[in-house]
Amino acid sequence: MFSANTLLPLLRQTWGFDAWLPSQAEAIEATATGRDTLVVMPTGGGKSLTYQLPALALTGTAIVVSPLLALMKDQVDALTRAGVSAATLNSTTSAADRAQIVRRYETGELKLLYVSPEGLATGRLQDVLRLGKVSFIAVDEAHCISQWGHEYRSDYRSLALMRDLFPSAAMHAFTATATPRVREDIVTSLRMVDPVRVVGSFHRPNLTYRALQRTNLTVQLQELIARHPGDAGIVYAIRRKDVEEIAAALSKVGVRALPYHAGMTPELRQRHQEAFSSEAIDVIVATIAFGMGIDRSNVRFVAHAGLPRSIENYQQEAGRAGRDRLPAECVLFHSGQDLIAWRHILGELVGEVGQAAERRLQEVQRFAVNLACRHRYLVEYFGEPFELDADGCGACDVCLRECTESPDSPTLAKKLLSAVIRVEQRFGAHYIADVLRGSKREKIEQFGHDRLSTFGLMKEFESQDIVSWLDQLLGQGFLDRGPMNTLLMTSEGWHALRGERPVRLTMPRGKPERRSKRTRGQASGGGAGPVEATTQAGHGFDDSASSALFEQLRQWRRETARLEKVAPFVVFSDAVLMGLIGRRPLTLQALRACPGIGDRRLELYGEALLGFFRALPPEARGGGDVLPEPTHVEAPPAVAAGTSTVVAGPDDDGAVSEAKVASATLQTAFSAFDLGCSISDVMVMTTRARSTVERYFLDWVEDRRPTTASPWLDERELARVEAAVHLVGRDRLKPLHEHLALEEPLDYAMIRLALRVLDTRKKVAAAA
Ligand code: ADP
Ligand code: ZN
Repeated sequence: MFSANTLLPLLRQTWGFDAWLPSQAEAIEATATGRDTLVVMPTGGGKSLTYQLPALALTGTAIVVSPLLALMKDQVDALTRAGVSAATLNSTTSAADRAQIVRRYETGELKLLYVSPEGLATGRLQDVLRLGKVSFIAVDEAHCISQWGHEYRSDYRSLALMRDLFPSAAMHAFTATATPRVREDIVTSLRMVDPVRVVGSFHRPNLTYRALQRTNLTVQLQELIARHPGDAGIVYAIRRKDVEEIAAALSKVGVRALPYHAGMTPELRQRHQEAFSSEAIDVIVATIAFGMGIDRSNVRFVAHAGLPRSIENYQQEAGRAGRDRLPAECVLFHSGQDLIAWRHILGELVGEVGQAAERRLQEVQRFAVNLACRHRYLVEYFGEPFELDADGCGACDVCLRECTESPDSPTLAKKLLSAVIRVEQRFGAHYIADVLRGSKREKIEQFGHDRLSTFGLMKEFESQDIVSWLDQLLGQGFLDRGPMNTLLMTSEGWHALRGERPVRLTMPRGKPERRSKRTRGQASGGGAGPVEATTQAGHGFDDSASSALFEQLRQWRRETARLEKVAPFVVFSDAVLMGLIGRRPLTLQALRACPGIGDRRLELYGEALLGFFRALPPEARGGGDVLPEPTHVEAPPAVAAGTSTVVAGPDDDGAVSEAKVASATLQTAFSAFDLGCSISDVMVMTTRARSTVERYFLDWVEDRRPTTASPWLDERELARVEAAVHLVGRDRLKPLHEHLALEEPLDYAMIRLALRVLDTRKKVAAAA
């Protein structure tokens, strides 16, 4: 048994991180009890570490079951670079490697051994496993065991065998997807005994969600890609044919894109996946067959070219964005046609299964057309409460007010529905739009539709807007599609026509299209309002000098990865590169202090990185003082410590609640604080004034509730604050500040941090 905090030195030494991400400590402590555990954390939550670190600390070898060869390779490559003894045994391992790995396993030198479920089913691997001492069994992507999950793999079923093979070893299951049903299924299928359940929050604040009516997909995708130049993205499509077409269309307009679907040969699929992992291409267009193997952590956007088949799928697929915890964007382009396409594909499903599939489609359709916060919808879908601030989440098109309800939707709907009836439900959307616009088309005159009362009834609208509204009615079940794309009324449609059903139609063309012109690197002054700041996703640098440095470092990383035959994100994550740019270290010691630089990586890459930073012209060199010190704004006096988030004051550019709204910058800051960056580092990264960054920091402290103030404050400083509180109390910060200054001044932000850490510790101690 160990407490998670006794492993902090190991975390620092091996991975170069100073603090836990939310739920990590809890998950590690659950592992330490030696009981079975089920750990449910969102993608990017840092699950891997919660079994890798205990594996390091315990004697014996942890057996990790992982669903895909590519995943295993990436994990082992990354562990090796952190100095951890790890290997994988699978069908592609050569005989020579196999013998050597088995030896390392037998002697107990291996801390982690990755195996595949199909490998485990063979007697041969079981025989090998008997030779060593197993510390515990970890099952990654454990939802694959559940038929209720969306990635069911029959070979996961045989994992329960591990129980018989190693009756005394604890089994730890990890997943990011969990409806309660899937969770229970994992527990039963793995024959877990009274497991400890650790369930983290499903909220992924670094993602910005948008759901837009699909109009001109290629143009819409181009606009999205233009917001993320040079960055990685995934486009999901429903059918193989769509995948091929979209990939071709994107290539034609100069995007480095490749297709990926189950109809391609395995070799070609693998080549395309590798091209994506190695950053040779930026965009991969795929059916849902793609993804499980994708570990690339710096995916900056995920687009859906059509409705996903369920919310679970959406969460999993969109969740592949921003695994490195930096800002990323998820856009769902949808149309009423998608439901019909899915029904066609799922047509064979009958009975209960068919009904369940239909229900899931309806849910995801509702998500797409809903005019409510999308973060909230997703989080609540998974049974977790979500508190929405008065000014919204700041990270979805609804809360950002980009997507608005069309004025007077019910009347609009009535006009549209009656137009469908007037043409006797025998025509398609474009024709109906022409009638409503009062077009002079010959065909309309031939049918006498120019004499209808609906003729010209909506002439103030563009044809594509009318088509889009008809499409929305289709998607919401008020219309149905008949033969040759004709539109038919449903009974719900008749109710709506009589005003018996609420109908909400959104403005067909959302704002991001118009706002997307502004891309990374452009000056952020002038009219860049707070909302625009949030569309600036990407790695979050606002100044072009840092962006250029980032690109150079990425180039170095790509080259290093190529030589080492690994994926670039395995060498360093984007978050670590950002931290480096924040600090621009010039000595080994300074480099060692950077987040994400453990002992082994320092040995491997230290000289190269120092060479890089030392070669910079003097004005670009670092130590965190590359920018002129922004004007210091006095900390707001005497906010009672321990109260909730800091009151947002006027910001640098006068926008009142920028800290709330500019979530991309905020998230960059949060990720950086997670990594242990200092306030000055984050000032450089975000190009925000100290006062702003201090506010971000305090929000972060509030949110994360760290139990240690490291690396910002050491224990001596904490003790100093504690002593000062004894003397002058803590009702007001100013006297505390003044008292501390008698010996040595301490920032307001640091005093707040110290108070929060002391509080948290007290609570933990009281609970123990
Ligand atoms: P998951 O498997 O849950 O999707 P990962 O294990 O891939 O998440 O971790 C997500 C990212 O978070 C990785 O880039 C990892 O390096 C980083 N990370 C993990 N633990 C920490 C930590 N304690 N501090 C900072 N970053 C961390
Ligand atoms: Zn929202």
